[in-house]
Amino acid sequence: MNLDQLKESYNLTGKTIVLTGGNGILGTEMALAAAGCGANVAILDLNTTVTEETQEKINGVNGRIKIFLGNVLNREQMIEARQVVLDEFGKIDALINGAGGNNPRATTSPDLSFFDLPAEAMDFVMKLNLQGTILPSQVFGSIFAEQKEGNIINISSMNAFRPLTRIPAYSAAKAAVSNFTQWLAVHMAQEYSPNIRVNAIAPGFFMTQQNRFLLTDEKTGELTPRGKTIIDHTPMKRFGVPGDLSGVLLWLLSTASAFVTGIVVPVDGGFSAFSGV
Ligand code: NAD
Repeated sequence: MNLDQLKESYNLTGKTIVLTGGNGILGTEMALAAAGCGANVAILDLNTTVTEETQEKINGVNGRIKIFLGNVLNREQMIEARQVVLDEFGKIDALINGAGGNNPRATTSPDLSFFDLPAEAMDFVMKLNLQGTILPSQVFGSIFAEQKEGNIINISSMNAFRPLTRIPAYSAAKAAVSNFTQWLAVHMAQEYSPNIRVNAIAPGFFMTQQNRFLLTDEKTGELTPRGKTIIDHTPMKRFGVPGDLSGVLLWLLSTASAFVTGIVVPVDGGFSAFSGV
């Protein structure tokens, strides 16, 4: 690849990317980054209502982001959504499995011990993160198998490398997402085409709605002991901001990473590299 080709590899014009959970905080930023490089982005989300601020940003990329209803746990809805996206954009080149998250009922606290965590809450978190990654990979991956080309990017997490305290189901589910990323990368390359790549991004600690009050005190805005421990263990001494994911996402989407498959890239300010000493 010469330098001109390398620069051009980040031009995603004409590519269609499906992004599940794209109406969330990290998803919106990922959609804007991909659309900003020319891609059409089809967001599939349970929630199709966007804030005024998000709508303005979407308008800024000339209608290249469209939001469709889609539950990642519902195969029929995913199949319907696949047809809707094909009708709208003509083809699909990449899938980003962004839908996921934890649930307070699957989180230990002084009021809820590990022994009392309800099975339904644990199941909900396991299903949303793992099954919610596998099912869209089946529905959209089948297109990639047929066209012998495609790109799947999963969203894992720091707790996939080493579990974080208090969130056993979320930790186990994201570890499974990283494991599935490696499995699917090998499977797609061996069984269908070496031009189908599967990778994951593991965001570190980002200040989003999901974890705001685990990291900062609701009343004072000061760091909680957990938030402080995280910053103390992050060599770069800050939480991530959604835009920190954009560079890695674009690299994985582009042909600049054409020989990369089966990896999980931490975007964590060095958290996973630091032993604490
Ligand atoms: P978010 O809650 O802001 O966004 C999640 C989006 O997923 C929402 O728009 C929600 O409507 C959608 N969603 C939920 N269930 C769905 C379903 N069944 N089908 C379709 N859509 C569904 O979360 P976020 O912080 O933007 O996180 C995005 C991804 O990044 C998640 O997988 C999350 O686990 C992961 N992650 C987040 C952090 C962080 O610090 N925020 C860190 C590591 C990993």
